[in-house]
Amino acid sequence: MAQPQRRIILKSPRELAIMREADRIVADTLVLLADNARPGITTRELDNLSAAHIRRRGGEPSFPLVKFDGATCISVNEEIVHGIPGTRVLAEGDIVSLDVGVVYQGWHGDAAITVPVGRISAEAQRLLDVTKQALAIAISKVGPRSHLYEIGAAVEDYIASESLGLVRQYVGHGIGRSMWEEPQVPNYRPEKGGRGPLLQPGMVIAVEPMVNLGSDETRALDDKWTVVTADGSLSAHFEHSVAVTAAGYEILSRPSDPSRMWGDPADYGLGRREGMEKTG
Ligand code: MG
Repeated sequence: MAQPQRRIILKSPRELAIMREADRIVADTLVLLADNARPGITTRELDNLSAAHIRRRGGEPSFPLVKFDGATCISVNEEIVHGIPGTRVLAEGDIVSLDVGVVYQGWHGDAAITVPVGRISAEAQRLLDVTKQALAIAISKVGPRSHLYEIGAAVEDYIASESLGLVRQYVGHGIGRSMWEEPQVPNYRPEKGGRGPLLQPGMVIAVEPMVNLGSDETRALDDKWTVVTADGSLSAHFEHSVAVTAAGYEILSRPSDPSRMWGDPADYGLGRREGMEKTG
């Protein structure tokens, strides 16, 4: 029924303009962190760069507001999400997932990328490429005539075709004045079935597939935050905040340097449907 949809908060053009700026700060922070994710740097040093950059841009890191110890979730190798910045030193061959949340003028931005540290293995590179493409495929399903679960169905089918492990424990989410709003955005077909709510212009969702090189099973570390793959295999995570528009979608989390964009359906020849064009 339509009931769950009522709790989804639509954003006005003026509100979207602020969210676009919040997400610009997020995306530019991610680019800065990607450029500094080199062998020898600690995750704490990366986190300090992140917090300083966000504040310089007039934003505030949002993760500390939810009791997370750090401005950025930094998850290395088998860590999937919620890695806590600390004394860990990045090494050649690592992959590192960077998840940045910003609140700017009362509105939240959220995005994530996984980047290589120096030279990485071919299988690690494949994991990054596939997860990034999974995000693009997911976003290509966003539009005013789509239903929410089309997004996850497309991700599930693609990851199955690549024989990788799709994390089901964590999902994307609506975002706005709160970091987490309705609806939840699964990266798979929900077991209960159905198509999910109809997407409408003004909705904003954070789309964020997480993919493992091995099985999809996860476990939490003793810190009760960090989530790792149960089998110790590598994991990757890419995320964008995306607004539903009358014409299709707009990716809000675009870096100022367009050459540093990730997971854009346009780069994969995706996102074109009848009567629907990408905007933004
Ligand atoms: Mg998110």
